Order: sequence, then structure tokens, then C-alpha cells
Amino acid sequence: MPSPSTYSRILQRLQTLLDLVLPRGCPGCDQPLGEDAPWCETCTTALLAATSTPYCPRCGAAAEPHLLDPAGCRLCRRESSALDGLARVGPYPTLIGAMVRRYKYQRQQRLDRPLGLLLAHAIAGRSWAGSIDALVPIPASLRERLSYRFSPVALLASTVGKQLSLPVLPLIVVRGKRRQQVGLPASQRAANVRGIFHVARHARVRGARLCLVDDVATSNATLHAAARALKRAGAAQVYGAVLAKAAMHNA
Ligand SMILES: [Zn+2]
Ligand SMILES: [Zn+2]
Repeated sequence: MPSPSTYSRILQRLQTLLDLVLPRGCPGCDQPLGEDAPWCETCTTALLAATSTPYCPRCGAAAEPHLLDPAGCRLCRRESSALDGLARVGPYPTLIGAMVRRYKYQRQQRLDRPLGLLLAHAIAGRSWAGSIDALVPIPASLRERLSYRFSPVALLASTVGKQLSLPVLPLIVVRGKRRQQVGLPASQRAANVRGIFHVARHARVRGARLCLVDDVATSNATLHAAARALKRAGAAQVYGAVLAKAAMHNA
């Protein structure tokens, strides 16, 4: 029989573990929450505002309602696109972007669930949602894996997959070096990722309808490069889904 002090030590450890695992407050701001409330009132309002802003179904850029056209907005209409459509939760300069930063850079892994639910909801709202066969996470570079100590995008994709009952297939692999896209002007972003994504050996993607998952898209260069690799391997359709879409200012 363990002594009472051993029991209390075990309980203490269990509590520490639960504190790490269970959400302790609002996912948007860490404020304590009432029972059953998934978000606080302020964050609920901010989320509704961010997720209800209209966006271009082709590139994800913020668009006026009358500009919503499957052929694209004024920013992307003349550009070729390897993506057949893009779903996004919200624009980057909103609560969504702030949550992505906490999730990745402050390593708040528990945000995978609320962010995953939001992304699943964004995908489910697209006309193509029902046609997808699988989700494909954009792989992290070795440097990112070392600095985050977890794979934010892979974890996110697995939550979305559970929500939408879709398999998550790591079909894309990285070969070659790339610099971080953050901070690069638009003109260099496409070149930075050109040719670095490949379809994993033995992966069968011919005829598949896939949805790439990433955390943030700015120029969409990463998504386009990965979509191109999948299409070269025979994928029938490739869509993209991101938490936040940032505007490209330094074009
Ligand atoms: Zn909140
Ligand atoms: Zn567009």
C-alpha cells in the first residue's frame, strides 16, 4: 500500500499534468472562463468579426462582397494558380493572427484544438469541402521543428482531420534549403520555395482531391509550390486551408 504522502505526491503530479493538458481559460486571451463557455465574450465578438469578413475564394485576400468571384479578385485574377480554392479562418491582423503567434512562437500547444475547430469550420463552409479525399500538411523545415519543439501545422491538421473525418497524409517532403518566407518581398517568395517540395516516394496521389493545410499564407507561394508538386504527381484537385491570410505589402 502506498503511504498517504505518496498518494498526495501522485495527486500533485496528476494536477500538474492536468494543468498542462486541460484548457485553463479563454483560448483567445487566457481569461478564466465560466463553465461551458468555450470563449470569453470579448473574444467571441472579435472572432465573429474576423471570420465573417468576406474573402476571395481563389487567393484568400480580403474582398468586398460584390467582388466574390470563383474566377478570382482583382489581385489574383490575372495570375495563374496551382490551387483550386482557398479556405481561411480570418485575416492575419486580427485575433486569429495573435492566436497563431501564441500557438507557434509561445508554444501554446493547447491552442491546436480551438484553432483546429475554427479551420475545420472554415473548410466545411467551402463548396468543395465534400469532395476532399485527404488533408496534406505543409511540412516544417528542420530549423522550424527544432525551434518550436513541436510541429504546429501537423498537429493542427490532425485536429482538423478528426473534425472532418478526413485522413491526414504527409505526402509532401522538403528537399533543399529555403529561407523563412517571413520578411521576404513577394518577388522572392516564389523563388525561395521553387522546387523544394516533392511528393513522398511511393505515395499514390493520381486522381486524388487534396487539401493542403498551413498556418499562415501571405503571397500563397508556399501553397502554390506544394500544390504544383501534387499536381505533377497526378492529383486531380488541390485546395488550400490556412488559419490566417496576411496581406502582401512589400510586393
Ligand atoms: Zn478571451
Ligand atoms: Zn483573389
